[in-house]
Amino acid sequence: MTTEYRPIARRDFDTDRIKDAMSEIIEAVGEDAEREGLRQTPDRVARMYAEVFQGLQQDPVAVLQTGFEEGYDEMVVARDIAFFSMCEHHFLPFFGTIHIGYVPTGRIVGISKLARVVDILSRRPQVQERLTAQIANALVEGLDPMGVGVVVEAEHLCMMMRGVRKPGSKIITSVNRGVFRNDSRTRTEFLSLTGVSGR
Ligand SMILES: [Zn+2]
Repeated sequence: MTTEYRPIARRDFDTDRIKDAMSEIIEAVGEDAEREGLRQTPDRVARMYAEVFQGLQQDPVAVLQTGFEEGYDEMVVARDIAFFSMCEHHFLPFFGTIHIGYVPTGRIVGISKLARVVDILSRRPQVQERLTAQIANALVEGLDPMGVGVVVEAEHLCMMMRGVRKPGSKIITSVNRGVFRNDSRTRTEFLSLTGVSGR
């Protein structure tokens, strides 16, 4: 599974192509694409996809370049960052919260930058495991910290509204790098600060 997170779009976003494809889907499910309520749907879906998939055109590491030197070398934790992504297997949303921890080597970034990294990497066709790893990898490259921990808690509409139909069940994934991987005390401190442990 690739964890490449650089801008990965193979071409520019093509609004007309999505509109045509959406009209085809409407007809293919047995509906009438010219019906009043559906006539603007291909255009609306195309504009929505432009937003939902804009992360394909963006580089998460670039937003981490505007940090500041603080000489702070204790753990920083940002918890409960909301995210919305699209399962690449079904093109249905999965969504929830992300907790990020890192131990800086002096350079730190504002919480808004961490949220931007989450936005860029979640606004792509994704799987939760890869999203978790890509966030960790981008932070390692962008901040060069002592270590990084990322926990993603998500609900998947493709599990809730079809297939196994298990609403309310959450998938939790975590990736640890550096001291978060090598030092169990660091990992334990992170998990207790996120509130993931002891629940
Ligand atoms: Zn799915």
